[in-house]
Amino acid sequence: MHNMPINRLSHKPRRPFNGVKRHPMAQTQQPGDDMTDSITPRSKLPNVGTTIFTVIGQLAAEHRAINLSQGAPNFPCAPELIEHTHQAMRDGHNQYSPMAGLYALREAVAGKVATLYGHHYDPEHEVTITASASEGLFASITALVHPGDEVIVFEPCFDSYAPMIELQGAKVVSFKLAPPTFAIPWDEVAARITPRTRMILLNSPHNPSGAVLGDEDIAALKRLTAGTDIVLLSDEVYEHVVFDGALHHSMSRYPELAERAVVVASFGKTFHITGWRVGYCLAPAALMEEIRKVHQFAMFAADTPMQYGLARIMQTPSHYLGLADFYQQKRDLLVDCLAGSRLTLLPSAGSFFMLASYEKISDQSDSDFVQTLIREHQVATIPVSAFYSDGTDHRLIRLSFAKDDATLRAGAESLCRL
Ligand code: GLN
Repeated sequence: MHNMPINRLSHKPRRPFNGVKRHPMAQTQQPGDDMTDSITPRSKLPNVGTTIFTVIGQLAAEHRAINLSQGAPNFPCAPELIEHTHQAMRDGHNQYSPMAGLYALREAVAGKVATLYGHHYDPEHEVTITASASEGLFASITALVHPGDEVIVFEPCFDSYAPMIELQGAKVVSFKLAPPTFAIPWDEVAARITPRTRMILLNSPHNPSGAVLGDEDIAALKRLTAGTDIVLLSDEVYEHVVFDGALHHSMSRYPELAERAVVVASFGKTFHITGWRVGYCLAPAALMEEIRKVHQFAMFAADTPMQYGLARIMQTPSHYLGLADFYQQKRDLLVDCLAGSRLTLLPSAGSFFMLASYEKISDQSDSDFVQTLIREHQVATIPVSAFYSDGTDHRLIRLSFAKDDATLRAGAESLCRL
């Protein structure tokens, strides 16, 4: 069977509008014209299709594949979180929360960060609850990046980063990281820093590779940014999912970095509630003031009852302190179950993900291979080329182990038959 390239599976605009405005009363329907096709906007993101997670999710559902693709748990959250949230609804907390977030939740976040990373963020001015970590990233980039600015990103990276930057009229300056270590080439980065460099986007633990930043990365960041006005936007949604006893190098741990950092985090990843869309941002007051200007008009505020529920469950730190062990067992289970397969597994030091090379099995492109796996073997994964803007293909697939053990075993069983 012929497989379509993944990027061709997505919706693309059919006809450019080219910015030509029509008078609203002008007759626009021509003989044979389809009315629904009469206005096609000039795209702000002409090279963007539907995100890979939606494309693969749909294909997986169509073929009833075991889903190891999206970084979304298929197991329930703590019942008391549901109970606390339901109670907040029953108590009538169903209207807008404060714009910056429920104060009790901001305090709980500030307390956690102070205990774990030693930095004291002021809940009044330096902590904002956002409607997902994605909104936190979007509000931060929109608030702080101007047209013509340069933003450094490291690929492979989450597929939303570059479009968010391009929407500001800014330039993406990307560095390609390569398997198996995905180490950042700091000397090359230093050579590309210019007066227009406004921001460096970081993500540790890293999606998709599972790599984490180390001491030498922190030292390089301090060296490169000292005396500049570069902002560090640090996507730390997997902060509690670092394996083998390693330290999570939050930007908030290092005063020289924290003073220029926006840390973005996710309750969804931490409490198995990715559908609730609640995250948070931490930043020095001057940066946060600008971020809130965008947040207030994009979302105004995050969901109220969820914030009540989260403020209650945050009082029990074992929920997030136990997360590394919880996911390490899942990583190890998947590694064990794949021991007999012909995949070559790359090490995962954190996150929900592990990469695997299929070189011994097939010479297909990663997009084709992923489609073959879904259609013929009923197991869904993500092609790593989707995380490179130019589709660089290292013949790697990403496996998500944020799944219950039965799903991990069943998925591995299919992959072992290859
Ligand atoms: N962050 C998750 C992943 O990488 C899900 C993202 C999404 O579906 N938007 O799989």
